[in-house]
Amino acid sequence: MRVDLHTHSDRSDGTDSPGELMHKAAAAGLDVIALTDHDAATGWDEAADAALDAGVRLVRGIEISTCFDGTSVHLLGYGLDPEEPVLRAELSAVLRGRFERLPRMVEALQSMGIDITVADVEERSDNAAATGRPHVADVLVDKGVVATRDEAFERYLMPGRPAHFQRYAVELFYAVELVVNAGGVAVLAHPWAGGSRHVLTPDVIGRLASAGLTGVEVDHNGHDDAARDRLRAIARAHDLVVTGSSDYHGQGKVGFDLGCNTTEPREYEKLFAR
Ligand code: AMP
Ligand code: ZN
Ligand code: FE
Ligand code: FE
Repeated sequence: MRVDLHTHSDRSDGTDSPGELMHKAAAAGLDVIALTDHDAATGWDEAADAALDAGVRLVRGIEISTCFDGTSVHLLGYGLDPEEPVLRAELSAVLRGRFERLPRMVEALQSMGIDITVADVEERSDNAAATGRPHVADVLVDKGVVATRDEAFERYLMPGRPAHFQRYAVELFYAVELVVNAGGVAVLAHPWAGGSRHVLTPDVIGRLASAGLTGVEVDHNGHDDAARDRLRAIARAHDLVVTGSSDYHGQGKVGFDLGCNTTEPREYEKLFAR
């Protein structure tokens, strides 16, 4: 059984529709696939229909934008009810923060002489509930300002670059509580990829486990072998489930193919036995 527990559709910053994604998952030999768009569950229904058709099992998930110690941290929630009122209000606040950030990013780029409008980005992210920096990057690629999404982040969109602005995110421990209260299980996404590595110390991961965290995404392309070994040991010490996943974004991220990392069937069963 091949299980991939972290993927994105065009409901956030992936490039496949939820339906296309389910068919590609089947073609990639996956048995179980989680759809985990950023801060939104708007792809679940289309994915569920297509999953039946394609013969894959869908896990309904969301990758929630959270913050800890001033740093962005991603939290995966599975099997949660996105209509649970408190969770729903927090996700709305995150999506609102994304919309309010967009004109500021666009103005910053315009002030550098780049020809880009909010409408350009909205058109590029037509199907998305969660509009993000990757959509701005795609417009910059379309216009020939940069060659790739990566280059757009490197030059303009990363923290410290001129078109980067903070947006609202849910406090990490509170987000874990919200996922659990909404009937779901919480898994820390790629904890040691990028900036979150510095704030998600072994001690903090232990405290999250005590606060209701169920698992840690260990096998992820953002982690080298040493990070994976160390995270696996930390997970074991706190009886946390170990997951692995692609973080597939379609054409939006090169080298993150469906099934490039997978979750052991035993760990997958443990995740949902709780
Ligand atoms: P946002 O949610 O709008 O703040 O954008 C964050 C998303 O951008 C992440 O979830 C990644 O999928 C993507 N991302 C972050 N850094 C890069 C990069 N260097 N190149 C391409 N995509 C990136
Ligand atoms: Zn993403
Ligand atoms: Fe992420
Ligand atoms: Fe992701």
